[in-house]
Parts: sequence; structure tokens; C-alpha cells
Amino acid sequence: MSDLALDRQIDRSQMTVSDEVAIQITKMNKWFGTFHVLRDIDLTVYRGERIVIAGPSGSGKSTMIRCINRLEEHQSGTIMVDGTELSSDLKNIDKIRSEVGMCFQHFNLFPHLTILENCTLAPIWVRKIPKREAEATAMHFLEKVKIPEQAHKYPGQLSGGQQQRVAIARSLCMKPRIMLFDEPTSALDPEMIKEVLDTMVELAQEGMTMICVTHEMGFARQVANRVIFMDAGQIVEQNEPEAFFNNPQHERTKLFLSQIL
Ligand code: ADP
Ligand code: MG
Repeated sequence: MSDLALDRQIDRSQMTVSDEVAIQITKMNKWFGTFHVLRDIDLTVYRGERIVIAGPSGSGKSTMIRCINRLEEHQSGTIMVDGTELSSDLKNIDKIRSEVGMCFQHFNLFPHLTILENCTLAPIWVRKIPKREAEATAMHFLEKVKIPEQAHKYPGQLSGGQQQRVAIARSLCMKPRIMLFDEPTSALDPEMIKEVLDTMVELAQEGMTMICVTHEMGFARQVANRVIFMDAGQIVEQNEPEAFFNNPQHERTKLFLSQIL
């Protein structure tokens, strides 16, 4: 794990947190069979927040964010996203997924589709957006992640960092209000980590509400407004980055930080 400092000035002036609730998780529990993986999770995310989730492997970080767009189902408690409750109601699931974008460690691009097609597939088929308009939007976001020249290539022809930026652009094409990132840089070589973090910084500066599971503590320090530490399926501690790193309260947090910093 690296404490990669972003070698750019971070403009935090646009990163304002509103008092509007984006996500409200209340007493949420999840089991995999008999294994109690998430325990009484309470979390309120306000619009404009950049939350970094840290914690040891297996602590439930991925499962928690996957519950937020129903890639995993929780068994008790409630999850509200933009005022809609996540339940088995398919209408609600569709609505929430349309507002929540997600990027994974392994970019999950369609290998047999071009970059442009990867970015227009869901807008055309799910959103029923005319092809031309979907392509214009896709080019806009490919420019934003600085790879418009790759539009007609296939994922296998791009570097890992470029593929991850495509994955981010593809999510943005659905115009999400919230972005979830699950270790977006963990599969990348060091020289590519920065270009993906740069893209995430720009999103943050534009006011995107973001929840990022990441080991990039430099990103956490400079971009996050809140760091959440999870262990054994629980939120153990959370604080603003400065206090979190300099003055951790719980033994488990101290141990974790001593291992990664
Ligand atoms: P993290 O992202 O913090 O590494 P995960 O959320 O991936 O943790 O996993 C939390 C725990 O749940 C781990 O013990 C993992 O083995 C277990 N787990 C994850 N997914 C499944 C699944 N689909 N079925 C059973 N157990 C799972
Ligand atoms: Mg994980």
C-alpha cells in the first residue's frame, strides 16, 4: 500500500458539503448464510461528501458499498438513497441504480466492444437515449478523463489506467449523483495510479458525492472530508482525515494505521 501524495494542488473550494442527505443507512445488517458480515451499520452521507472507507481485508468494505446499489442484498435495517428506500421493489432498485455509479478494482469493461460502445451501451439500451446523443455524451466524458483518442479502440488495447478511466467515464455517462469506488487503483501499476486518482480528484472538485474504498491514504488526506474505518463488519471509527490519521481513538484503528503508514 502506498501513501501516494498527489502532486497537484487540490482545490477544496468547490468541495462543499450540503446538509441534504444523499444516503441514509440505519441499523443495516447483512449475512452471507450464517456469516454475519455487516453489523448494525449506521451511516449518513451528505451531498458533496468525499468519504474514504479504510479497513483490513475482509472487514466488509466491499459488501457495504455493494449494498448501496443492491449488488448485495441486506437483510435488516434500511438503506435510503436520495429519499428512495432500497427494498425488493424493482422500481426503487432501478431508480437508485440510475443515481449511483460504481467503479470496481477490475474495470469490468466489455472486451468485445469499443471504448465508445462501452460508454454508450447502457445510455442507449437502458435510458433509451438516441445513439448520436449518447455518443456525444460519451465523447464529452472521455475528454474529461483525457482519453478521447482511444474511443474506437478495444479495452485490451489500453493500459490498466486508461481502462479504469474508461470505466469512470462509462459510469458518468449515466449521469449519476453519487459515485462508489471499490479499490479503483488496486490492480494498477504505480505509474497509473496517479492518473486515475487525478480523475477522481476532478470529480470531487466538481462536487460529486463519492464513497471510495481505497488504500490510497494520500488521497484520503487530501480529498476526503471523512474517513471511515471498518473492522469485522462494523464501523469502528470515523473522523475528518487530519484527526483520523493523527489521533485515532480505537486500538484497532491504531493497529491498522501502524501497519499501512
Ligand atoms: P473487504 O472488501 O473489506 O475486503 P468484503 O466485503 O469483500 O471485505 O468481505 C467481507 C467478508 O465477507 C469476508 O470474510 C469475505 O470472505 C466474505 N464474503 C464476501 N463476499 C461473500 C459471498 N458472496 N459469500 C460469502 N462470503 C462472502
Ligand atoms: Mg473489498
